[in-house]
Amino acid sequence: MVVNALQRKRLTSTLLYLGLIVLFVLALVLAALPRLERVFLVQSGERSEATLRLAVEGLEGALRRYEPLPALVAERPVLRRLLDDPDNGVLITEINRQLRQTAADVGASDVYLMDATGLTLAASNYYKDSSFIGRSFYYRPYFTEALAGDLGRYFALGIMSGERGYFFAAPVWQENRVRGVVAVKFTVDTFEETWRAGDSEIVVADGNDVVFMSNRPEWHFRALSPLSQDALTRIETNRQYPLGFVIALENRRTPLDDRFDLIEITDRGVTTRFVSRTMPITDAGWSVTILSPTTRAENQALVALALLALVLFSVAMIVAIALQRRVRLAERFEAQRATQELLEKRVAERTADLNTVNLKLVEEIEDRKATEKRLRKTQADLVQAGKLAALGQMSTALSHEFNQPLAAVKAYADNATRFLDRDRTDEARENVARISNLADRMASISQRLRNFARRPQQKVRPIPILAAIDDAIDLMDTRLKASGASVALARPDGDIWVLGGHVRLQQVLVNLLSNALDAMEDNPAPMIEIGIAAEEGGCRVEVRDHGGGLPEDQKAQIFDPFFTTKSPGKGLGLGLSISYNIIKDFGGNLSVRNHADAGAVFIIDLKRAASPSHAAPVTESLAGE
Ligand code: ADP
Repeated sequence: MVVNALQRKRLTSTLLYLGLIVLFVLALVLAALPRLERVFLVQSGERSEATLRLAVEGLEGALRRYEPLPALVAERPVLRRLLDDPDNGVLITEINRQLRQTAADVGASDVYLMDATGLTLAASNYYKDSSFIGRSFYYRPYFTEALAGDLGRYFALGIMSGERGYFFAAPVWQENRVRGVVAVKFTVDTFEETWRAGDSEIVVADGNDVVFMSNRPEWHFRALSPLSQDALTRIETNRQYPLGFVIALENRRTPLDDRFDLIEITDRGVTTRFVSRTMPITDAGWSVTILSPTTRAENQALVALALLALVLFSVAMIVAIALQRRVRLAERFEAQRATQELLEKRVAERTADLNTVNLKLVEEIEDRKATEKRLRKTQADLVQAGKLAALGQMSTALSHEFNQPLAAVKAYADNATRFLDRDRTDEARENVARISNLADRMASISQRLRNFARRPQQKVRPIPILAAIDDAIDLMDTRLKASGASVALARPDGDIWVLGGHVRLQQVLVNLLSNALDAMEDNPAPMIEIGIAAEEGGCRVEVRDHGGGLPEDQKAQIFDPFFTTKSPGKGLGLGLSISYNIIKDFGGNLSVRNHADAGAVFIIDLKRAASPSHAAPVTESLAGE
């Protein structure tokens, strides 16, 4: 696959985006983890709170139940009797039995009677090896408290039994004097049994923060906070717990909120985290703590975090995709804008070019106009000059044409006078006849000149072409015969009608025939061929001679007025010019070419006309001219 630069750039930016997103999500997750964990830890703490309350209530219930018991037992008169007579074996046996019964009735571990020195006189466990009888508990605080007349209460590890127990003690009064002390001990193992059912740990600590109850036996007698020397001495004096058992249980508390703590307990190298909640049992000076494992909360936090991460990632991805799309759109817009700008720039350039070209064109047009104006002026000047030149030429030609005959007329006239003077009338008449001929010639020249001033307003009408050709040949008859020339006319079937004027067309044809005869002057057998070709819209008449033809450079000039190659006496150079204009007036054309063999071919092109149903006689046509 060919990856172009743009795609590579996009890929890089996408990867960069992804990387940033991952980093962003990670950062968020890491930032959120402790908070989220705390929420779940607190939740877990809240769930365990009920268990704690039950445990506390159970303990308080037990304490309430056992609390009044020693005082009740102490009221029995038989006890005072034994205190009066401590060696009375019968009494001891009786009281031992009673106490055993009482212990069994109330579910106490031990019930026993001590004298004022702390010596045990009777005990419910009299029958056991670990009997209290004969043992002195003067050092126990519950004893001293009861001896002082108060209710004694204490928790300790039983010296004899090795069992942990709670002791209540009450004084045995006799005449306002404390004679002895009755103590009731109950064990706590049953509570721990109950607590073991749950998945949380319950820990009961005394005022010194030494754990004396827990469903985890290895924590028994462990100190949760460092003990002062005083406290240690007190424990030793009261023989509350063997000091060797009181080992610190390493722990670190972090408050989660005002109710719950996060506690990390390190025991034998293993650290376990718990959510803890503590409730006091004020009367006993205990604190009951429930420790819920954090595993579940941690897992929940992780799952929630994973979900959060997923959601964040998805949201971030969506945002990133949207951003990418926006960027791409922006890029596309930018590209379009650039293209448009380029286009506009090009258009502007082109427009500028066009403007320049336009300006140039305008200038050129102005130039042309000026040139045209100059040309027109020049043309007009030329025409003027041409007219003057023509006039000059004409004057020369005319004076030449007329001077000769005039000079001759004068000579003949002078001679005639002289002949008349000498009465030579015949010769005089001859001269006069010559003068008359010369006058005719001059009249003929004048006639030609009049024709030159043609009358374009003369109408063009349908005429039969053959009549014009025949009449022209007739008119030329004398000259044709004089020069011994023949005319070959290829006569078509039926007449052809063309637009024109009979006399004017005849004049053109006479002119062409006359020129042809002039061209064949040196020809021993001059011949003129006339061809007529009728086409759809036109008719062509070709007059061919067998003369020398036209030199190439003269072809363009022969239709100009006064162009002649003939001697001044013979030609005026007006014949073809007049003929050309006549044919143009008919809407036709007169042209010339050299024949491939010899001679010139004059071509008359005329418009065809529909033959009128009642064809007017030629004479009428003539009359119209
Ligand atoms: P003109 O006959 O008075 O000279 P035209 O206008 O009739 O004037 O003819 C002009 C010139 O054209 C002639 O002088 C001649 O040189 C040339 N020309 C006309 N007809 C012919 C022809 N059939 N063959 C050769 N040259 C011709």
